[in-house]
Amino acid sequence: MADLGIDAVAWSRRYHKPWREVDAAVKSELQARDVKVASHPGHTLVEPWEVTNRNGKPYQVFTPFSKAARAQVRDDAPLPVPQLRGAGVDDIPNHAGAVGFARQPMSEPADPHWAGGLRETWVPGEDGARARLESFLEGIAGYESGRDQPAEEATSRLSPHLRFGEVSPRQVWAAVGELLATNQAPAGDGQKFLTELLWRDFAWHRLYYLPELHAVNVRRQFDSFAWASAEEEPELIAAWKAGTTGIGLVDAGMRELWQTGYMHNRVRMVVGSFLTKNLGLHWRAGEAWFWDTLVDADPASNPFGWQWIAGCGDDAAPYFRIFNPVTQAERFDPHGEYVGRWAPEDLTPLGPEPIVDLQKSRKAALAAYSDIKAGANKAAVPARQAGLPDDI
Ligand SMILES: Cc1cc2nc3c(=O)[nH]c(=O)nc-3n(C[C@H](O)[C@H](O)[C@H](O)COP(=O)(O)OP(=O)(O)OC[C@H]3O[C@@H](n4cnc5c(N)ncnc54)[C@H](O)[C@@H]3O)c2cc1C
Repeated sequence: MADLGIDAVAWSRRYHKPWREVDAAVKSELQARDVKVASHPGHTLVEPWEVTNRNGKPYQVFTPFSKAARAQVRDDAPLPVPQLRGAGVDDIPNHAGAVGFARQPMSEPADPHWAGGLRETWVPGEDGARARLESFLEGIAGYESGRDQPAEEATSRLSPHLRFGEVSPRQVWAAVGELLATNQAPAGDGQKFLTELLWRDFAWHRLYYLPELHAVNVRRQFDSFAWASAEEEPELIAAWKAGTTGIGLVDAGMRELWQTGYMHNRVRMVVGSFLTKNLGLHWRAGEAWFWDTLVDADPASNPFGWQWIAGCGDDAAPYFRIFNPVTQAERFDPHGEYVGRWAPEDLTPLGPEPIVDLQKSRKAALAAYSDIKAGANKAAVPARQAGLPDDI
């Protein structure tokens, strides 16, 4: 390090166990070379270990967590974005194999070429994050009522910028707080949005204590649940991934994801419920696909969201909550605008047949889930067996 003339290194703390281990190793290596080191909070609103219940234990339920965390978020203005000083980025030697310092633009995928939609949809980097935040703040009125309508752009779409540290949650929190304090944002809209930011902190709080969240059911009684794996059901998983299930809202969401790297939150819940409850596939297959395709793919929010929707997570959706994608579309996309944008053929009378019977598969899932609840999963039926249209 001495040859780079570095006296001190500071960074935003990371909370995922494998990342913490890397950071700890870097820290001790730097210290061994007499470089001063300091890590700072910034990736979450509150440090995951600082929010505890009366017994000093982590929270497992969102509402009490959010109350405690909300009271602990610092309300002084966050520090301005630091400017790089000293050596310019271009002066950093380009070590062969150092991916982070690659000078050449990364090559784009050619076949299939999926990067075009990403480029049209996102402006990565801090400038893109700032612009996104500013335009969201201008239109924050209506967030609460519009946030469940996938055809509208009512939500902030800040998730990838938060994910990659291009804006910190405290900067976002402070900006919304300022609007609320000066009556420039309706209280309902601003508060609802802040609560959503706290869901992100809650997911990190849980991941801090459960580093295997992507792999292990939080509620271990689900270990015996008879979800099928992706290998066992290649056709079902392929139809789900490609958005060719014949169910409009599901297909639209999966295609939006493939083309833009994003999917609206309401639709994430619908496609997740459909995969785990109607198709009977393991939530890990969905989590892995989201991890590969989402621009905001996050080690905390992604497995947290999947375990929530599958019913095996902390404070999860109750097992009997099976989203009906048809009634969800009627409610949240009443004019078919969203489905029409991404999967128009599903709206036509001669559109594709659904790959699963929603009512039958729902019944089969309910039976399997209530067995788990009763602690005996003897009769767990792969839902699709009961529901395929040719199942006679
Ligand atoms: C199955 C499933 C998987 C998900 N995977 C991810 C993921 O990999 N990465 C990710 O950032 N979010 C994930 N989410 C949460 C949520 O869908 C997205 O954060 C949200 O859609 C991002 O859009 P937005 O920025 O416009 O949200 P806004 O409504 O503008 O919310 C503002 C911010 O709050 C946070 N937030 C909002 N809702 C949630 C939530 N339910 N859980 C955690 N944080 C939330 C996000 O950081 C978001 O950017 C997942 C949800 C589900 C159901």
